Amino acid sequence: DPNRFTKLSDTAWQLEPTGKMRVPAILYASEALLREMDDKVAEQATNVATLPGIVQASYAMPDAHWGYGFPIGGVAAFDADAGGVVSAGGVGFDVSCGVRTLHTGLTREAIEKIKPALADALFESIPAGLGSTGYIHLRDHQMTEMLAGGAVWAVQQGYGEAADLERIEEHGRMAGADPHAVSEQARKRQRNEMGTLGSGNHYLEVQHVTEIYDPAVAKVFGLAVGQVVVSIHCGSRGLGHQIGTEFLREMAVAANRHGIELPDRELACAPIRSELGERYLGAMRSAINCALANRQILTHLTRRVFAKVLPEARLDLLYDVSHNTCKVETHSIDGSPRQLYVHRKGATRAFGPGHPDLPDALRPVGQPVLIGGSMGTASYILVGTNEGERLSFNSACHGAGRAMSRHAATRQWRGRALVDELAGRGILIRSPSLRGVAEEAPGAYKDVSEVVKATHQAGLARMVARVEPLVCIKG
Ligand code: 5GP
Ligand code: MN
Ligand code: MN
Repeated sequence: DPNRFTKLSDTAWQLEPTGKMRVPAILYASEALLREMDDKVAEQATNVATLPGIVQASYAMPDAHWGYGFPIGGVAAFDADAGGVVSAGGVGFDVSCGVRTLHTGLTREAIEKIKPALADALFESIPAGLGSTGYIHLRDHQMTEMLAGGAVWAVQQGYGEAADLERIEEHGRMAGADPHAVSEQARKRQRNEMGTLGSGNHYLEVQHVTEIYDPAVAKVFGLAVGQVVVSIHCGSRGLGHQIGTEFLREMAVAANRHGIELPDRELACAPIRSELGERYLGAMRSAINCALANRQILTHLTRRVFAKVLPEARLDLLYDVSHNTCKVETHSIDGSPRQLYVHRKGATRAFGPGHPDLPDALRPVGQPVLIGGSMGTASYILVGTNEGERLSFNSACHGAGRAMSRHAATRQWRGRALVDELAGRGILIRSPSLRGVAEEAPGAYKDVSEVVKATHQAGLARMVARVEPLVCIKG
């Protein structure tokens, strides 16, 4: 009910602090999206607002839906000096899940001619599916190097090019990782999973640009209508999931000892300045490196396929951005810079023009914000804004967001019928699991165009380009 909120604008809705809330909760959405939004989102954003050391507000992005403790699409920043906390549930299980988009230098016509062969070759080379294993098997010391080195490690191993690194957040390597904070079990789960896509929602998609909204930024991003790009969405696989599971449990048990009152046990967290908080940050950053290395290896596999099938292609990285992280960032709060631990769970970092962390070529316009839609609809590329800092610590949506559960989707759709229907529209799906395809039916997601429009109108990020799928390798 929109009447519960103070309307800040057509796309920003505030819940005033009551009870134990330390700050307001702000939901970014159009009125229509707000009405459709799961009631749990407001409840969960409100719960997050009670956590120690939270700064400014607890936020939900326009694609937000119910999650474990924190909403998916939730953003919250904490100040360590004010007793702030770090939360495994505020990062999510698939640590550093994210999207990277690669140019190909090809036009749609070039792809259309050999589309089925390209789809088959990608499907053969990209390990996908639940528990899928890759070509790479890491011994323990190699695992430690990977967890410390991220995509920098992957490039050293021969996966990709040094030029890729400047187009990845953290220049391809998350500092402050502590591989020894990663359990044996997490390492074991990851030993054979490097260079794999994982299941369901994860994808490798060949897309063509169908509309440009901001020609000047599109030019800097190297995007024009008719051009083909490849987007890869995946994360830290079994390792991230294991770390999330273990630390959630440990944080829930330790909350009492740390004197933290939890309105919901799922909000398990620990003071940033505690042994447990520091250990989680060390493990979580290792998982970020795992995800960065994983997407880098998948990029290498993708390049090999294109080299065989379309040798004229050149797969240069546009950008790689994660949407499940906690990162230390400096943001201006009431006019003065403060160091904050920014949690983004199902939310994309969206730095505006001039940000020092951006590569030289992109700094004048801002950071690419890569938003998935579904295998049967558009996806979008946006750009970060400067006002985004005040609005959401420079964060934007990360996708369309689910409109119904996986289970509900399988009752409504059949995988085979979806694959056929999409093929009729020129979209080739390749997946090891027809059930997975049904779970991921385009109709199981919100309208990505509405979500992106609300993100744009709210000023969180601005629309640059729309892309549509030609081939989708689904996990
Ligand atoms: P998540 O990280 O929450 O699992 O997913 C992020 C977003 O990816 C979802 O909200 C959804 O909009 C989008 N998505 C899921 N499957 C696909 C797909 O096959 N292709 C594209 N382009 N987007 C997808
Ligand atoms: Mn994921
Ligand atoms: Mn994701």
